[in-house]
Amino acid sequence: MTHPCLSCGACCATYRVGLHWSEADPAQGGLVPQALTEPLRRHERAMRGTSQANPHCIALDAEIGRYSRCTIHPLRPSACREVSASWEHGEASDQCDRARINHGLPALTPADWIDAGMNELDPPQAA
Ligand code: SF4
Ligand code: SF4
Repeated sequence: MTHPCLSCGACCATYRVGLHWSEADPAQGGLVPQALTEPLRRHERAMRGTSQANPHCIALDAEIGRYSRCTIHPLRPSACREVSASWEHGEASDQCDRARINHGLPALTPADWIDAGMNELDPPQAA
């Protein structure tokens, strides 16, 4: 079985994803492709597609609940890196649970990780 995020993608299609402008400025060492972002508040940008009524990040290649891939995974904003899948590291994640429920998916349980044969020593490569 595969990592649960690879058949989900709900968080990338639920929340507005904000980032400090410097994360999308190569001159500051930022890695996020600036063209995939748009201005948000002062000092902030947002991933395109995530500020709309039905968010869907421009970098997301997914059919929510079936397959999911972040097309800029190694370059994704810090906000994305900070979201853990529920029980990936031994505790529930409110952001993960709410996103999945928003898309009609059940919240993950510890059993999902046992079934996937994964634990925190076996980190995900995509979400
Ligand atoms: S963190 Fe949770 S909501 Fe986001 S892709 Fe993974 S399982 Fe889905
Ligand atoms: S992980 Fe990738 S697809 Fe998901 S919100 Fe972040 S940049 Fe977008």
